Amino acid sequence: MDRLSVRQARQESAIGQQARLQGWVRTRRDSKGGFSFLELNDGTCLANIQVIADAALENYESEIKHLTAGCSVTVEGQVKASGGKGQATEVQAARVVVHGLADPDSYPLQKKRHSMEKLREWAHLRPRTNTFGAVMRVRNQVCRSIHDFFQEDGFLYLNTPIITASDCEGAGEMFRVTTLDPANPPRTDQGEVDYTQDFFDRPSYLTVSGQLEGEVYATALGKVYTFGPTFRAENSNTSRHLAEFWMVEPEAAFFDLEDNMDLAERFLKRIVTDVLANCEEDLDFFQQRIDNEVRDRLGKIVEGGFARTTYTDAIAALESSGESFEFPVSWGADLQAEHERYLAEKLHGRPVIVHDYPASIKPFYMRVNDDGKTVRAMDVLAPGVGEIIGGSQREERLDVLERRMAEQDLNPDDYWWYLDLRRYGTVPHAGFGLGLERMVQFVTGMANIRDVIPFPRTPGNAEF
Ligand code: ATP
Ligand code: MG
Ligand code: MG
Ligand code: MG
Repeated sequence: MDRLSVRQARQESAIGQQARLQGWVRTRRDSKGGFSFLELNDGTCLANIQVIADAALENYESEIKHLTAGCSVTVEGQVKASGGKGQATEVQAARVVVHGLADPDSYPLQKKRHSMEKLREWAHLRPRTNTFGAVMRVRNQVCRSIHDFFQEDGFLYLNTPIITASDCEGAGEMFRVTTLDPANPPRTDQGEVDYTQDFFDRPSYLTVSGQLEGEVYATALGKVYTFGPTFRAENSNTSRHLAEFWMVEPEAAFFDLEDNMDLAERFLKRIVTDVLANCEEDLDFFQQRIDNEVRDRLGKIVEGGFARTTYTDAIAALESSGESFEFPVSWGADLQAEHERYLAEKLHGRPVIVHDYPASIKPFYMRVNDDGKTVRAMDVLAPGVGEIIGGSQREERLDVLERRMAEQDLNPDDYWWYLDLRRYGTVPHAGFGLGLERMVQFVTGMANIRDVIPFPRTPGNAEF
């Protein structure tokens, strides 16, 4: 007897096989003719498989007739053709083993639909719902495509540190890592906390980005990418910020801004192409139940090119848009979410890459243009989500980099190793960061970033 997943058993090619299936009951329906239908799900696909359990089974009265949503079972039987709607196959059970019951009075996932907010309170049970099963299968596909794309393109997978001492990269608020007693830390004569007595002899933090370390390896091994968790103590509650999220960061030597934009565009197209090819059933679900524009958006990614505009032109377009924005638009101010969405959704109707931002709003490491006022930064803005990628060509000239650090009050001693990369065999190079969860939001249409990661971390939420 073969062990089959529900996904496999639903294929017509499984008809006639003796199979063992294992999973969780979604519903039980008793027929007058003395048998019951069980809808069984094991997470391998969105759909359930129908199991027919005859009254003749020895535990029919004692166990099968008590099965309710959430119970776990092993079913052995034959896969047969089904006349039922939406299913090619069903299973005629010869044996049903009940592993665990689920008290219907307290099991929260009954037939009724729950709000996303409610489901967040049951982060341990929500993977058993259709929505979260579909999200996690798509997330898995996105991760796989990320690796496939970079591996096939000759990038080397690199693991950058989670704990780091570089604290002024400017990407976001950092979480401190310490072994000092918070109630009674050692203090200097001036009364400051004395971090020289801490585990690493200095203040240290959870990483906000692996970019600087990625540059170290790119300027030796050529093309690298990191893919790991990133931490930012974002103290605002938005639908697109988490305190712990996953980021993919390619970094490539001898790449300029143009190469970087081309790479980002090819990369996003590849992920979407793979999701369209491999997650059809789940995408249908998102299209019908979550966001009826998902397929349309994904189609546009694969078919057309991305729009590209300079920051300066984008500001001009926003100024003449006639829209009333909450935040003012002016050259020199960062784009807000509402501006990003206007550009991607209304003005261009497809992803847009905004590039060459004012130097004053960007970190020290971005390549300064000849005008002296702008830097070779790029953000990819996606309809529905806004910024999904941020990146730049990096400043490879030692003197310019030192000047920019001084302007931003950074201590060059803290970056001696980073500056060495420019002292010894410097090269033009570029890279970007894609937020995995923002990408999953984009391909599923899920409105809140808390619902595309298994265990969301946001202010006040770290229970499980
Ligand atoms: P935002 O403007 O949305 O706050 P950012 O400009 O601070 O983003 P970057 O430092 O450019 O973000 O990071 C690269 C990418 O990481 C972003 O384009 C986004 O996809 C993702 N990202 C950034 N911050 C978060 C977060 N708090 N939660 C989830 N994803 C994030
Ligand atoms: Mg931010
Ligand atoms: Mg931003
Ligand atoms: Mg950014």
